[in-house]
Amino acid sequence: EATRAHLDRIAAVDGDIRAFLHVSDHALEVAADIDRRRGAGDRLGPVAGVPLAIKDVLVTTDMPSTSGSKILEGYLSPVDATVVARSRAAGLVPLGKTNMDEFAMGSSTEHSAYGATHNPWDLDRIPGGSGGGSAAAVAAFEAPLALGSDTGGSIRQPAHVTGTVGLKPTYGGVSRYGAIALASSLDQVGPVTRTVLDAGLLHDVIGGHDPHDSTSLAEAWPSFAAAAREGARGDVLKGLKVGVIKELPDSGFQAGVSASFRGALAAMEAHGAELVEISAPHFEYGVAAYYLILPAEASSNLAKFDSVRFGLRVDVPGGTVEDVMAATRDAGFGDEVKRRIILGTYALSAGYYDAYYGSAQKVRTLIQRDFDTAFAQVDVIATPSAPTTAFRLGEKIDDPLQMYLNDVTTIPANLAGVPGISIPSGLAEEDGLPVGIQFLAPAREDARLYRVGAALE
Ligand code: GLN
Repeated sequence: EATRAHLDRIAAVDGDIRAFLHVSDHALEVAADIDRRRGAGDRLGPVAGVPLAIKDVLVTTDMPSTSGSKILEGYLSPVDATVVARSRAAGLVPLGKTNMDEFAMGSSTEHSAYGATHNPWDLDRIPGGSGGGSAAAVAAFEAPLALGSDTGGSIRQPAHVTGTVGLKPTYGGVSRYGAIALASSLDQVGPVTRTVLDAGLLHDVIGGHDPHDSTSLAEAWPSFAAAAREGARGDVLKGLKVGVIKELPDSGFQAGVSASFRGALAAMEAHGAELVEISAPHFEYGVAAYYLILPAEASSNLAKFDSVRFGLRVDVPGGTVEDVMAATRDAGFGDEVKRRIILGTYALSAGYYDAYYGSAQKVRTLIQRDFDTAFAQVDVIATPSAPTTAFRLGEKIDDPLQMYLNDVTTIPANLAGVPGISIPSGLAEEDGLPVGIQFLAPAREDARLYRVGAALE
């Protein structure tokens, strides 16, 4: 019933929202099989039978995986991403694959080769990015749970602009195996849901050590659903030290976003939290460092799309191997992807490497140290999840710098590898659109984010 209801909902609204690139043609059979197993007395977990939307960056054996790119049109993977395999094993029912900016580069889903997704709150506005499809699907009740990936905010910023919950786990907490790599030192897979508890339930399914991912942490994790339940019950805000970054520029933040942020902080204070002003002087340089490190890693990761190993191949009669490769990449990659490959190869080239990539890595270390110092004084850091509410489709598409600046509050967590959550903090007064508040915690303290997030809900 749940699967059918969500497929019906997709049929009814996705023509307008366009959250899905592909809808499964066998979701009902998968759901029926779970029913049969339940009937036969199989002890299934708490999420068995719950439908799931999957960001198209995650490879699947039974549905195409394009990462939003023409170069992978129709691509069928021989393996499931670990998070997909674990979701199937837990009885989650994959509904389909969701739209995204090409190779997860963007903050609006407008860079998808398959057209933009629309924000269910206002169809003229962006659903965030790169995982706008997953967030829009959850916000529009097309799916109760979704998987996203977050390299610089692609789970948290879409959650912010769609009134949903999104969590980027500690780097290494969730397997990246089968997540088409954007920037391997920054990428993390995580949940996009409507409640903090739902996120915890999904994180419990997908998280934990995976020998297929060499950066996967070996340790055992606590139950994040249990942490969310604990937070919802009680007084976890009492005595909680909440860091507020004094250097975070006030300008650039929309009035309603700042007001909602201050309102959420006041509510926390009223419940016994202590607000502590902290200094993170390098936080604001995160965007500059990220937009060198990310293109550098991305240019290397995308080198594998060479017309031979995966996807598209444009033949050049009488041409050399290089001609075919160039024609294929020219036809298969969109403008934003090309822009970043050019930036990345330039930043990595001899003579410029130290000046650009090397400097950015040093800034990355300084940001990590800022976090270490801050977390010696506070339990969590709070920021607005993004500077503005959902902007209009087309508004920033011709201005990459404006698009990049949108990530100012989300990027530092990826550079430092720490977990971050965005939860709804209300609607902005001037436009009535959703606003999120972000909490960051020390690495491995994801459970703390579930406790605090659930306490605020
Ligand atoms: N907006 C960021 C970018 O364009 C987000 C990327 C991501 O998290 N996948 O790089």
